[in-house]
Amino acid sequence: MKYENVCEVYEALESTTKRLEKTRIIAEFLRKAKVEDLPAVVLLLQGRLFPNWDERKIGVASKLVAKAIVLTTGLSKDRIEKEWKKTGDLGTVAENLVKVKSQATLSRHELDVKKVFENLRKLATLEGAGTVDRKLKLIAELLTSATPLEARFIVRTILEVLRVGTGEGTMRDAIAWAFFEKEMGFMYKEEDIEVEDRERYNRYIGAVQHAYDVTNDFSAVAESAKKDGLEGLDKEAITVGKPIKVMLALKAEDIEDGLERVDRPCAVEFKYDGFRMQIHKKGAEVKIFTRRLEEVTSQFSEVVPLIRSHVKADACILDSEGVGYNPKTGRYLPFQHISQRIKRKYGIGEMATELPIEINIFDIVYHNGKSLLNENYEDRYAILKKIVKAEKKKIGLAEHIITDSKKEIEAFLQKSLKQGNEGLMLKNLKAPYKPGARVGHMVKLKPVLETLDLVVVGAEWGEGKRAKWLSSYIVACKDGDEWKEVGRVSSGLKEKESEGVTYEEMTRELKSLVVEEKGRSVIVKPKIVIEVIYEEIQQSPSYTSGFALRFPRIISVRSEKPASEATTLKQMENLYKKQKK
Ligand code: AMP
Repeated sequence: MKYENVCEVYEALESTTKRLEKTRIIAEFLRKAKVEDLPAVVLLLQGRLFPNWDERKIGVASKLVAKAIVLTTGLSKDRIEKEWKKTGDLGTVAENLVKVKSQATLSRHELDVKKVFENLRKLATLEGAGTVDRKLKLIAELLTSATPLEARFIVRTILEVLRVGTGEGTMRDAIAWAFFEKEMGFMYKEEDIEVEDRERYNRYIGAVQHAYDVTNDFSAVAESAKKDGLEGLDKEAITVGKPIKVMLALKAEDIEDGLERVDRPCAVEFKYDGFRMQIHKKGAEVKIFTRRLEEVTSQFSEVVPLIRSHVKADACILDSEGVGYNPKTGRYLPFQHISQRIKRKYGIGEMATELPIEINIFDIVYHNGKSLLNENYEDRYAILKKIVKAEKKKIGLAEHIITDSKKEIEAFLQKSLKQGNEGLMLKNLKAPYKPGARVGHMVKLKPVLETLDLVVVGAEWGEGKRAKWLSSYIVACKDGDEWKEVGRVSSGLKEKESEGVTYEEMTRELKSLVVEEKGRSVIVKPKIVIEVIYEEIQQSPSYTSGFALRFPRIISVRSEKPASEATTLKQMENLYKKQKK
């Protein structure tokens, strides 16, 4: 197949924002493609060279691509950079300049999909001395043979900014439409599809989805659909060593809401503030993946022997949360701490001693040759319980109860928070494991942040549109008879009257309280109490309270509340400690 054909599809996809139309374009194209071209075509259409789970990255910076354009067209670096600034897209630059150039020279060979795909893949695998030069040559070689249109998409693929809008859902449906059009009993009409039998239609879409869930690779899925039909898709299985997508959680408003979503009784577990670890074991071989399917086995090499010695299974895939803790006190540390370990390439051994982690296993999706995706959660859990040997502060099952009592859940939540966890997870006992989906088989329950009632002690005149208002407020908490500042807040009030308390009203009120004016700032009598929400309380030397707020926002003006009842410094300290845990 000619690469140009793929580029024509890109163009067609770009020309519409309608999902059904995109699906149709891809489906028709895949139906026509030969089996041997399918894998490359499916990946290229997604702007990828490797499936999701594959570690290899193209790793080419835009500067290098700009250089390749210089090399191919013979035009000056300045010219390229000027065009780049103008369009903001190197793909378009390549297209325009190859157009200018090819009229003059015409040294083109026809580009074949496989040739383009293989050359691009080589970019990701080159290593060692002279790599940059070799990459430059590979890109230039492609661009020299490319038509202007091809040049645009080669560059965009290299830079991983294809922008034709083929999401996972579109690709899934397109594969089903392409290979099972008749069997599904549907017709594509402009702007719509007509389905004779929804159940049958969904059966095919579901089969493609299943195959994708376990392989994370639409190129393999398309190939299997074309070659072996529905049966092939159904047979696609989890492979130990290849990550699968993890199941995601929905959010519950409160305990009652959570219980309604997962049914009673349910499993309730601590929600640890660490990072998701999908652990694969096959004999003595252990691999660890993040929720984004990146392999992190070498960063957490101390986990490997632990799995070997504490998990009794020939082969399994476990879902767990690794949480960092302070080795001196044993207390859990927030996620930011171990996030350093994920990125770490060197000095891994030291990090493991300084920032040890505890593995809390909470699910199992594969066990000794059998996928457990369609088993109930309670049955999966029963297997887990049998095969994991716990060791304190190293490895074990997530703290877990089964209950239908709100009271018990509330008490469990307090216990979880007290230990420094984020909250709870509630899980449906009868639910299967749905990779990559947020279907509500498990829901998270986190305590709502308490808002602060702070007193406005100063303000500043705004700028631009807000120049006529005092629009930024210095707020403080109460410390005995004193006011201790905790920062500034300027968002949350309204500009128009009908929408709530306005900056104008606030300005009027504050003007009557001004005790001192200095440039654009005023100091006011501490009278007005505002309710402030924020993302985090941080320690800060910038304000007299010693604290500052991250992303503060006014949610109401508490005209009913006297300043004497404002949040105290002591309360702030407690909230800070609680949040830190
Ligand atoms: P969130 O990231 O806020 O959507 O919450 C879901 C995340 O909580 C999961 O992806 C896990 O990384 C983490 N988590 C912590 N403890 C558990 C648990 N017991 N069960 C499931 N997920 C958990």
